[in-house]
Amino acid sequence: MTEPVVEAIDIVKWLGKGAAQVQALKGISLALRGGELTLLMGPSGSGKTTLLSILGCMLTPTGGTVRMRGRLTEGAGPEELAKLRREHVGFVFQSYHLFPTLTATDNVRLALDVRGENSARAIAKSKDALAMVGLAGKVNAFPLELSGGEQQRVAIARAIVGEPSAVLADEPTASLDGESGNAIMTLLAEIARDSSRGVLVVAHDPRILRFADRVVHIEDGCIIREERGDAALKKDQGECAAHDHDDKPDRVEN
Ligand code: ADP
Ligand code: MG
Repeated sequence: MTEPVVEAIDIVKWLGKGAAQVQALKGISLALRGGELTLLMGPSGSGKTTLLSILGCMLTPTGGTVRMRGRLTEGAGPEELAKLRREHVGFVFQSYHLFPTLTATDNVRLALDVRGENSARAIAKSKDALAMVGLAGKVNAFPLELSGGEQQRVAIARAIVGEPSAVLADEPTASLDGESGNAIMTLLAEIARDSSRGVLVVAHDPRILRFADRVVHIEDGCIIREERGDAALKKDQGECAAHDHDDKPDRVEN
């Protein structure tokens, strides 16, 4: 088995302030390996986005640590974390997060501009990434000229153009119809075939199970179960293991 590209170790995360504090993650360990698509499934409010943000070094944990390409991030300052993100992580969000006034190429290029890439090279790489996601004919289109599925392809091109070690996608198919959602998942599964890249997809639609090499179930800030490949398709959803709850107030729903 390959070394993890990114690894969360014993992660605890408290969110919010004072009496409204919520323990969003209660001691979670999760490693993403190259060549694998991991699906993170769980109900709304279970801590999926928090875990994804911590794995992507967007959010620092209250306890535990993240190892990115073998490097421990504990104690790293904001600049250092930003550099790790730029070099190693590509994010994809449910709502695409594209700039409406920029063409597809320029939206993708943004990911390289923050790295200070020379512009001719950045444009060429961005067009290659768009071709990779099946949008060679739409490089000059603006987001509003594209369908939802096509906009999400642009977002995926932007996530992979810098050749990240980890692609982290938070409910990437939630705004799409079934067919476009399947096309996006097929694309993410293809991206995960690269042995130097791990892909994490957060979802709660069981139709996505067939695209996963591995499924991790999270509930109430704890990983309750993990399955690999076909086993994930066969098993049905189990009960959440009993967890110790502390005396903090109930979690706030999104
Ligand atoms: P999911 O992505 O699985 O829906 P989240 O990771 O967004 O869950 O949230 C986990 C828990 O943390 C939820 O109870 C949510 O209400 C809470 N939470 C998320 N963000 C904040 C915040 N900024 N302040 C306080 N609580 C938060
Ligand atoms: Mg979420």
